[in-house]
Amino acid sequence: MKWGLIGASTIAAQHMIGAIRAQDGNDVVCVLSSDDARGVSFAKTHEIARSTTSLDALLADPDISAVYISTTNEKHKPQALAAIAAGKHVLCEKPLALRVEDAVEMVEAARARGVTFATNHHLRNAGSHLKIKELIQSGRIGDVQAIRVFHAVYLPENLQGWRINSAAAGGGVIADIVVHDADTVRFHLQEDPIDVVAMERSESLGQGVEDTVMSLWTMPSGVMVQTHEGFTLRHAGTGFEVHGTKGSIVARDVMTQRPIGEITLRDSEGSQKIEFETHNLYQRSLGLFVDAVKGNGEPSATGIDGIKSLAVAQAVKQAASSGQRVRVMYGGV
Ligand code: NDP
Repeated sequence: MKWGLIGASTIAAQHMIGAIRAQDGNDVVCVLSSDDARGVSFAKTHEIARSTTSLDALLADPDISAVYISTTNEKHKPQALAAIAAGKHVLCEKPLALRVEDAVEMVEAARARGVTFATNHHLRNAGSHLKIKELIQSGRIGDVQAIRVFHAVYLPENLQGWRINSAAAGGGVIADIVVHDADTVRFHLQEDPIDVVAMERSESLGQGVEDTVMSLWTMPSGVMVQTHEGFTLRHAGTGFEVHGTKGSIVARDVMTQRPIGEITLRDSEGSQKIEFETHNLYQRSLGLFVDAVKGNGEPSATGIDGIKSLAVAQAVKQAASSGQRVRVMYGGV
């Protein structure tokens, strides 16, 4: 399968081109950039045959059957709709769009056109999270009572652009990281948050957008979820904890792009380190996407998953802005 990249982005350069090329018979043949020189240079650096500044030209290429969209967030919707109309399969970055109703439109368009559409939520592909889910489902910690998510990091300097100064481009830590945490919690509990309360602030990096947020979510099962996302903490490390009636799973450094971290299981017998697989997260996601295009199974995170993670983030934003408890609205999906 030949791919077109929509966006000459950091994530494409650092993770996704390699993940695409790691799939048998898959290659990247064109990159779209709004800036001709950046596109040319990006194509040269990554040995991509050509670059273009025209979305129509990329989509008109009959050799390209799939696109990966990793532009700034406000561009995802129009680019995805155009790609879907051209009959391309779409792997789209999170958040799928700026508003839930826009994401619903994208997913419905893909369904109507009969193309595969997926959201690039990487964490559910991590060996650590696959192991945590297995532990939960096997009953090792009994009934789940609470989840705590620690995902406050220091935003690398090379990413301190639109994420910290442009609400119009979908900046802010809620759009950037809460979506991942919502997807990860949904993946583990297989249920969708009902309502949320939240507080945000702009501590040091955010210019007109929040760089820190803490929130509480209630789940249909009664499980309570506590999350902390941020761009300003240099030394906190990340973590994911699941507490149950028979035991607790305490995972450290697992809210990351790399296959690292540690999982400890604590129960009445004591504390035990749990081993897990350390495959590349993005390669696994790509593999499932390619299989889905061939008619085998579903992508790791579907379009519906992307709508739901965005819905939770949108509710967190509303709750933080208003000081009110906000019900999560999933756009009817
Ligand atoms: P970047 O800022 O690297 O790229 C976004 C856009 O910025 C590009 O499409 C490019 O525009 C433009 N751009 C890139 N470099 C420059 C530059 N030097 N000067 C001016 N403009 C530039 O964003 P990210 O790669 O961090 O994020 C892209 C998308 O991917 C976002 O939606 C984000 O949420 C998502 N993401 C997802 C991750 C995941 O793990 N799933 C991880 C990181 C990001 P053009 O294409 O027009 O050249």
